[in-house]
Order: sequence, then C-alpha cells, then structure tokens
Amino acid sequence: MNRGKKVIVLAHCILNQNSVVYPYGKNMKEFKKFIMESLEQNIGIVQLPCPELRAYGLKRWGHVKDQFEYREMEDIIKKLLKPYVDEIINYKNNGYEIEGIYGIKGSPSCGISLTCRGNWSGEASSYESIEDIKSRVKMVEEKGIFMEIFEKLLFENNIEIKFLDVEDWKSFD
Ligand code: SF4
Repeated sequence: MNRGKKVIVLAHCILNQNSVVYPYGKNMKEFKKFIMESLEQNIGIVQLPCPELRAYGLKRWGHVKDQFEYREMEDIIKKLLKPYVDEIINYKNNGYEIEGIYGIKGSPSCGISLTCRGNWSGEASSYESIEDIKSRVKMVEEKGIFMEIFEKLLFENNIEIKFLDVEDWKSFD
C-alpha cells in the first residue's frame, strides 16, 4: 500500500487557467513546481470548482467581492462547497491529513490574504471612464467570498485547516 494519507485542496484555476476571467491566464508551468512537489511527496490533490465559472460562465466580466455579497450567490457557493466539506470530514474521520487549502491572491472569490473590493454596480457606461472604474478597486486583507464561506463551513464542523495563497507557497514540510 502506498497511500500518502495527505491531501491538499486547490482553487480550480491552479490546475486549469482556462477558467480565469478573459483575457487573463497564466502559463500552467508557473504552478509546475508546486504540483510536482505535491506529487513527489505523495500528496493527493483535490480540485475545487470555480465559483465564477459556474455562476457566470467564460464570458463573465471581472468582478469585485462586493458584487458577490448577496444571499443567492452565497447559496450557490454553499451548494458548490457542501460535497467538499463532506469529503474533508470523511478524510479526517479516516485519519487523513488535509495539508492546506490553496487560493489565488487578490481574487474576489478565492483570495486568501488579499481580495479586491470596489464600489461598482450597474452599467459600465455610467462611469466617467475605464480609469474611473479601475480607480475604485482596492486590495484589502481579507478572504474572497468563496474561501470565506469555505472557512465558515469548516469551522461549523469544528475543522481548522491552513488557508494559503498559492503565490505564497514555498515548499511542503
Ligand atoms: S473564481 Fe477562483 S477558481 Fe475561478 S478563476 Fe477566480 S480564482 Fe480561479
């Protein structure tokens, strides 16, 4: 038997940059070291769903966290996360370690140490200019909505797991 009994949980786009807001998208090689070290250390990988892709599709606009803070979006996120919370409980009850949950710095959904906020709503044409729109965005030190709700759901089940931005990953212990 060669089960490592260790698992990491990743924001969807760490394994699939096709899901990010157009026209962004990193070369997947940027995550190669992180992924390869997980495999070398026999750590299993669980990929979360991309909440923005599920809710708004590939043609979505970029968003800020404020736009996701309404009850129906929170319900969508909870529904997406429930099977993953259950899976984590199952792993833990069977002696597996969840080594960490990895997000994307600055994302309104999956940011861990930083997310973006802004006073945005309605028609883009109702703003003075693109610069006007951009100037309203700021990075704040809090989780994106998806990871925030994930942490709450785990907490309600008495589970504490390390949350990290993949950009801050150094090396597994
Ligand atoms: S919502 Fe999360 S998983 Fe989807 S593209 Fe943004 S950071 Fe990646």
